Parts: sequence; C-alpha cells; structure tokens
Amino acid sequence: MELQQLYTDLILEYNKDTTNKRKIDDPTLSEHGHNPNCGDDITLEVKVKDGVIDDLAYTGSGCAISQASTAMMAELLQGRSVDEALRLVHLFLDMIRGKVTDEAQLEELEAAVSLKDISKLPVRVKCAVLGWHTLEIILDRLEAMKKEK
Ligand SMILES: [Zn+2]
Repeated sequence: MELQQLYTDLILEYNKDTTNKRKIDDPTLSEHGHNPNCGDDITLEVKVKDGVIDDLAYTGSGCAISQASTAMMAELLQGRSVDEALRLVHLFLDMIRGKVTDEAQLEELEAAVSLKDISKLPVRVKCAVLGWHTLEIILDRLEAMKKEK
C-alpha cells in the first residue's frame, strides 16, 4: 500500500480544519504527545464538566495524518461523557491495530473511519494514534480522579 493512497480528500480536509486547533481557557487537564519517528508534536487540552467533555482542543504541528486524526477525534468526542469517550478511543485503537474490522461497528467513529487503512502501513500508525493515545492518558487520569472522590 502506498502512502499517497491514504491521503483521501477527507484526511486532507481535516488536516486543514483548524476549528479545534486552539487553546482552551482554564482546561481541566492537558497532555503533551510526541512521535519522534515523524516529528509529530501535539498538546491536547480537555475541559470536563459533570463527567462530560465540554471542550477538547489541540495545538502543535505534524504530518497531515496526525493533524487530521486529532481533528477528527476532537470533533467526535466533544459533548461525550468521559466513559463514552474512553470507549470510542479504545474502538479507534482496536481499528488501527486491525482487531475490529466490522464496518457497522466502526461507523460510530464517524470521519475517523477513513483512517482504517493506516493499519496496513505500520510506519504511519504512530501518526494516526498520537492524539488518541494522548487523550487516553487524560481520560484514564480523569477516571482515577473520579474514583478518589
Ligand atoms: Zn506523522
């Protein structure tokens, strides 16, 4: 599989979509993610209110796949509960690892389904999962904070 084939219109569109590429005022948590293989570097900020992701945004730079993937994630997960967001992050990671291939099940990921074929191009996998892995760290911390209460 060639890299060019991965750059679908949707990925290019999301790479340019900067709706959620911004800072959040007073975020609940933030986390930095770095992919040295490609030079992708992002910082995620999340604002949580009553167990729901009130806002999710990112800053940083990187290749089209890392930027598009993070933009798709931000759009998908705003307004979701922390539990629901964690479930969808795991579904995305399972899709990229090739563990879940059922189209109907993956529909839930909306635009991010377009990254499915990245699983066939191992060198780009880290680009595609960077934002999601970084969010997983934040969500796990939120879950731990909830249990402490
Ligand atoms: Zn990259």
